[in-house]
Amino acid sequence: QKKEWAKLKDEPSVSKDGQHVELVANIGTPNDVEGVLNNGGEGVGLYRTEFLYMGKNELPTEEEQFDAYRSVLEQMGRDKPVVVRTLDIGGDKELPYLELPDEMNPFLGYRAIRLCLERDDIFRTQLRALLRASTYGNLKIMFPMIATLDEFRQAKAILLEEKDKLIQEGTEISESIEIGIMVEIPSTAVIARQFAKEVDFFSIGTNDLIQYTLAADRMNERVSYLYQPYHPAILNLVNNVIEAAHAEGKWAGMCGEMAGDAIAIPILLGLGLDEFSMSATSILPARTQLKELSKEELASFKDQFLSMGTADEVEAFIREKTNQ
Ligand code: PEP
Ligand code: MG
Repeated sequence: QKKEWAKLKDEPSVSKDGQHVELVANIGTPNDVEGVLNNGGEGVGLYRTEFLYMGKNELPTEEEQFDAYRSVLEQMGRDKPVVVRTLDIGGDKELPYLELPDEMNPFLGYRAIRLCLERDDIFRTQLRALLRASTYGNLKIMFPMIATLDEFRQAKAILLEEKDKLIQEGTEISESIEIGIMVEIPSTAVIARQFAKEVDFFSIGTNDLIQYTLAADRMNERVSYLYQPYHPAILNLVNNVIEAAHAEGKWAGMCGEMAGDAIAIPILLGLGLDEFSMSATSILPARTQLKELSKEELASFKDQFLSMGTADEVEAFIREKTNQ
């Protein structure tokens, strides 16, 4: 089986009916890029930058960050896009040296973009490092945990301010950086239409979207039975996001675990997802599976699985249709 997969390393990702999607990877450090290329990744769909900030006693400097971003962009080359997510700290990821107060509900608390908008010194340093690195490859910048349009507008305004400052200083910056958001909070998935007019792309973060939609802590074993990727509520939100993106000529990806799941892939293909971001080792199996799937046929099942009542019904239906 490994041999079969390896043959597809340099092949495009196409379905049985000739439809192309992007199969890209989630990474945490520049060292992960080798694995992405060895597994035939067409880009990086999520670079989690938290690791730069974790396991040390102070914030990373602009230079440290610049070196890391430049390294990832250079290794991926001009053609392969790299989506870098700005700092998503808080929730399950702590930073002791920031001395944040303990919270009753860290997953619903002060984290990610909420923290970056208040501590804009931290945010601006990261954005400057990213903007300076932008000329070394195909950079896209993504904000995490966006709950309101105002948050997106504020984050984008800060990004543009730093860009202007750098240009004034004579720094060269790419003119084609796309700016997008993670869709991992239900409010954003519900009004994706309104967001789609302002963002360049969406990346659906199902790890969080599932926990917030079903109100089930993703770390809590006791309620893990509620953590249901194929729940029709999740599928309807995902569908809404993809339709909203396409109505505005934008693209929609997914970077939660669900994007690499063999039951979810046919569903997402049928819903029209453009980009699937997963762990590097899932890419060749996904590309192999894709060759056997007809996007048109799966799209014709869309109304059926979106109107089902339970995750089990959806799963049974997909297993039957795809012989799994
Ligand atoms: C997500 O929430 O789906 C996601 C990709 O981000 P993280 O797992 O880092 O929260
Ligand atoms: Mg998340």
